[in-house]
Amino acid sequence: MLGGLVKTTMSDRDDFPERVKRIVAQRAAYFCSRPECRNLTLGPHSDPEKALSNGVAAHICAASPGGPRFDPTQTEEERRSLDNAIWLCHSCSDLVDKDEQAFPKEVLREWKSLHDKFISDSGGVPQLPDITVRTLEGLVMPPRGPATIRGKDISLFREHELLIVNHNSRLIYWLTCRIQFPESIITHRIVENPAGSSFDCKPDSMQLVASATGSGSVSVTGGLRPALNYILASDTLPPRSRLNIHFLSTASENSSDYYMSGLGSESLMNYVLGQFQYPLLGEYIPRRFLLPLNFEPERRVITSLPCEDYDGSRSIIHRETWP
Ligand SMILES: [Zn+2]
Repeated sequence: MLGGLVKTTMSDRDDFPERVKRIVAQRAAYFCSRPECRNLTLGPHSDPEKALSNGVAAHICAASPGGPRFDPTQTEEERRSLDNAIWLCHSCSDLVDKDEQAFPKEVLREWKSLHDKFISDSGGVPQLPDITVRTLEGLVMPPRGPATIRGKDISLFREHELLIVNHNSRLIYWLTCRIQFPESIITHRIVENPAGSSFDCKPDSMQLVASATGSGSVSVTGGLRPALNYILASDTLPPRSRLNIHFLSTASENSSDYYMSGLGSESLMNYVLGQFQYPLLGEYIPRRFLLPLNFEPERRVITSLPCEDYDGSRSIIHRETWP
């Protein structure tokens, strides 16, 4: 009797308690949960003492009979529960209630679960991929095509591994890198390529069929095309995928110039400079990064430092076409 009395005198609607409204908004970080919208639902009011809210805890299945997506099998408690709530902006909330056919409960549940993932992924900003460069012991790639590796080659050439790992739970788009090593790159080999992504790896500068003779008496002939820098461009890197490329390099005549590129100096000479894009609030946002490389001239060994966000403030030297 009491239940009936309460319902008739107050409301027939199973409205959400304040606690549910607050938690569903906080879980959504106050962004509208409709993937095509994701508008922020909080903002400044023209009155400097007030904030404006444009969000609503919407019912996935209506609060009362006859309402959109009403489910008669739900109990009153289920209707008022967090599970039945989705955070939307006012216009998206109107939209889903006016066109029940286009927005059935399955669609709203899908939005909610996508939005949970979106927010737990730092609001959609993916982490920088793990990028490392290291010089390998010995050589795996024969410097001259399928020929065998001779002892002499080992002293002339160096093989370096570039490994890129996307450890995010989401795709990153249009990853491009400019790779500038202390030694000229002769050739490269793709060791690991994520399924479903395509990419291109080629010299940035004009290619030369050149001989690099000099004090080091390094002879590079027979179609080997040393390049100072390489460009790597991929369309997508799937979640938890790895891209592994080996580069074969040789010391060049004027490489001593490049050796002074110590990390202690103000400008950085050896590095991987790149960017990728990620979708956020309906746009693709670029994020630039810089991987500084250290070089030990005596052993001719490259090691990478931690990858960092690049805002252009750090001075880097862009080497031009060789020689
Ligand atoms: Zn919206």
